[in-house]
Amino acid sequence: MIIEKIRADFPILSREVYGKPLVYFDNGATTQKPRCVVESITDEYYSVNANVHRGVHFLSQQATELHEASRETVRKFINARSTNEIIFTRGTTESINLLASSFGEEFMGEGDEVILSVMEHHSNIVPWQLLAAKRGIAIRVIPMNDKGELLQDEYEKLFTDRTKLVSVAHISNVLGTVNPIKEMAAVAHAHGVPLLVDAAQSIPHIAVDVEDLDVDFLVFSAHKVYGPTGVGVLYGKEEWLDKLPPYQGGGEMIQHVSFEKTVFNELPFKFEAGTPDYIGTTGLAKALDYISAIGMDKIAAHEHGLTEYATQRLKAIPGMRIFGEAGKKGSVISFLVGNIHHFDMGTLLDRLGIAVRTGHHCAQPLMQRLGIEGTVRASFGLYNTEEEVDVLVAGIERVSRMF
Ligand code: PMP
Repeated sequence: MIIEKIRADFPILSREVYGKPLVYFDNGATTQKPRCVVESITDEYYSVNANVHRGVHFLSQQATELHEASRETVRKFINARSTNEIIFTRGTTESINLLASSFGEEFMGEGDEVILSVMEHHSNIVPWQLLAAKRGIAIRVIPMNDKGELLQDEYEKLFTDRTKLVSVAHISNVLGTVNPIKEMAAVAHAHGVPLLVDAAQSIPHIAVDVEDLDVDFLVFSAHKVYGPTGVGVLYGKEEWLDKLPPYQGGGEMIQHVSFEKTVFNELPFKFEAGTPDYIGTTGLAKALDYISAIGMDKIAAHEHGLTEYATQRLKAIPGMRIFGEAGKKGSVISFLVGNIHHFDMGTLLDRLGIAVRTGHHCAQPLMQRLGIEGTVRASFGLYNTEEEVDVLVAGIERVSRMF
C-alpha cells in the first residue's frame, strides 16, 4: 500500500487550515472522499440522471442499472447471499430506526426485551427507548470491564424468555473495542434470538463477512467508508426481512395500490419507499470498489500499525489517560491529558491544523460508565501516516505546556 499514491486520490488532504497542513483525524465522524467517488457523483448527474425503476426510457434504465449494480457491489462486499438482503437507507441511524420500528411492530410487545451494550452510540439506544415508550419493551445492558471489553458472562446472563433481539456495535466509536460479534451471535442464536450489529465503525476498517459472522442484521453508513453522505445500508437475512412489515409507505415499495387494498413490493423494495438516493448508491459502490482494490487486509494492517505507533507515542506524554485498552482494538484513540478540558485540547489542536473530535461522541451512557464528560478522539483512516501522528503528539505536548 503506497500511502503517497492513496493520499493523492483525496484532494482535501492537500489543503491547509490556519496556514498549516491539514491533519485529518476525525475519520470516525466521517471520512474524506477519493476523487473517483466525487467524480462518479458529478458524472452521473451530468450524463445519466433519471429516476430509477419507473421509466421505460434509456436514461431511466441506465440509472436503474447503476443503482442495482451498486446493490450487488454492497452484497459482494459484505458477502450477503442475495441482493434481496441489501436495503438502501439514509444511514446507520435510519437503518436502526427502520428495524426498531418494523421488528418492534412485528415481534415486540409489553415486557419483551432488547439487549444493548454500555458502549452503544445514541443511534443504537434512542430508537429502542422510543420503542420502549410506545410498546413497553425493556432494555438490558451488557456491562464492560475497565479495559473496555464487554463482559461475556454477564451478556449470557441477560437472556430471558422475553429477550427478542440483541443489538451491539461491532467496533466502539469511542473505545475502539472490537466486540466478538461471531461469538455473541452464537450465544444469541443458542437462545433463539437474532443479533443486529452496528457496523458503522467496522466496515471502513476491517473485512466484514455477514455469512461468517452469522449476524441477522447489519447496518452501516456510506459516509464513514469514503462514500457520500445520505446513504446507508441495512443488511438482513432474507428469512427475517420477509417477516417484517414495511417501514414507510409510498412509491417503489408497492406492487399494487387501490383504496381497498395495497400489495407490497418484494424484497428489497418493500423497505425502500420513495425515490432512493440512486446517485449516492453509485458513489457508495465506487467507494467500496476503491477500498476493495487496495484490499481490506492491507487497510486493516496499515491502520493497526498506525494505532499501535500512536498509542505508544501518546502514552509517553505526561498526564496521558487513554480510554479503551481492549485486547482487540480498532483505529480509534480516546484520551484526556491531565486536567485539560477535552474542548480546550480540541480547539487548540485545531489551530495547529489537527482535526480531532471532542465531547461525548454520542455515547453519553458510556461517558457515565467511565465517569467523565468527554474525551478527545483521534480516529484514523487509510490515508493517515506516522508523520501525522508525530504532528499530533507535538501538538498535544505544546498544548500541555500552555496549561
Ligand atoms: N453507530 C456508530 C458506532 C457510529 O460511530 C455512528 C456515527 N458516529 C453512528 C452509529 C451513526 O451514524 P450516522 O450518523 O451515519 O447515521
